[in-house]
Amino acid sequence: MRRLPVFFVLDVSESMIGDNLKNMEEGMQRIMQTLRTDPYALETVHMSVIAFAGMARTLVPLLEVASFYPPRLPVGSGTALGAALRHLMQELDRQVITSTPDRKGDWKPIIYLLTDGKPTDQVDEAIRTWHDRYARRAQLVAIAIGRYADLSVLKRLTDSVLVFEQSNSGDFAKFIQWMSASVLSQSRAVGQEGGITLAKTDNALLTLVKDITSSDGVPDQDCVVLVGRCRRTRHPYLMKYERVSPNFEIEGITLSTPHFAVAGCYPISEDYFEWSAPEPEGLVVSTEVLLGVPGCPNCGATSAFGRCHCGGLFCLSGDGEVVCPWCGQSVLFLPGGGEDFDVQRGRG
Ligand SMILES: [Zn+2]
Ligand SMILES: [Zn+2]
Repeated sequence: MRRLPVFFVLDVSESMIGDNLKNMEEGMQRIMQTLRTDPYALETVHMSVIAFAGMARTLVPLLEVASFYPPRLPVGSGTALGAALRHLMQELDRQVITSTPDRKGDWKPIIYLLTDGKPTDQVDEAIRTWHDRYARRAQLVAIAIGRYADLSVLKRLTDSVLVFEQSNSGDFAKFIQWMSASVLSQSRAVGQEGGITLAKTDNALLTLVKDITSSDGVPDQDCVVLVGRCRRTRHPYLMKYERVSPNFEIEGITLSTPHFAVAGCYPISEDYFEWSAPEPEGLVVSTEVLLGVPGCPNCGATSAFGRCHCGGLFCLSGDGEVVCPWCGQSVLFLPGGGEDFDVQRGRG
């Protein structure tokens, strides 16, 4: 039986932390449930998952639907699209069986690339290689999640660029249904020539990007993400702040400069540091523009925003002496302290 290789290339940069990442994990489970009940998919579809943040790695190599289990998604800092493409091309070379005169190879692979940001590494060379050597023997669908994805770079990669904008909570589920239906219809259509069908987006959920004008600049990220550690458990967490609308009013004062309000604080695992690109110097944000302080998701301390001289952030409850979980120095917190300061921010 000839295989239909399907690759999911997922952006797991830290701006995805929270609902997007959870939705993506659950979404993959739902896609697999759908595929498992379909005789065509069971026979032909083989799935692989590649994740990328500051670096790219294969989470699951090509596996038949019956033995595929959706992986836990990591999170890291950076959106290394160039590295993701190079990794994808290596995987296509390594995992996809090509046809020879005496052997029928795999069907043309389908790739779903999902991203919510703009690349933080060089992509030109990878895009050129893609067009020279891969574009004709694979089908690539790029899906921009939200309005901060760099559409022009995606459009240089493939004509099939879709934008998914979530406006209410049921939207992600519908998006996942669309993905499942898309894989299913491809598994039925194998052997027929012609491109991937993207027409069946019957609602405003997904829009096919037609033309990009050069004036469509990429807006700045709409969030600030900061990493801290629990002073008790030493486990890391991410604090996510989302941009509030311009002229946002708080306590009777109208804020004119961009401000960010706390959206959540999420426990992460130690592999965050492996998945992250080294932070460029000077990518800082002042606490002045950050509204609200989350608690520690690991120990329940009231503030996740203590800061050591070393620059590390950690959780805090009240005053007193704390041993910094980053550098081991002890830091004394006095009542009433709390001036604004600059903190290192992630690359989103
Ligand atoms: Zn804590
Ligand atoms: Zn420290």
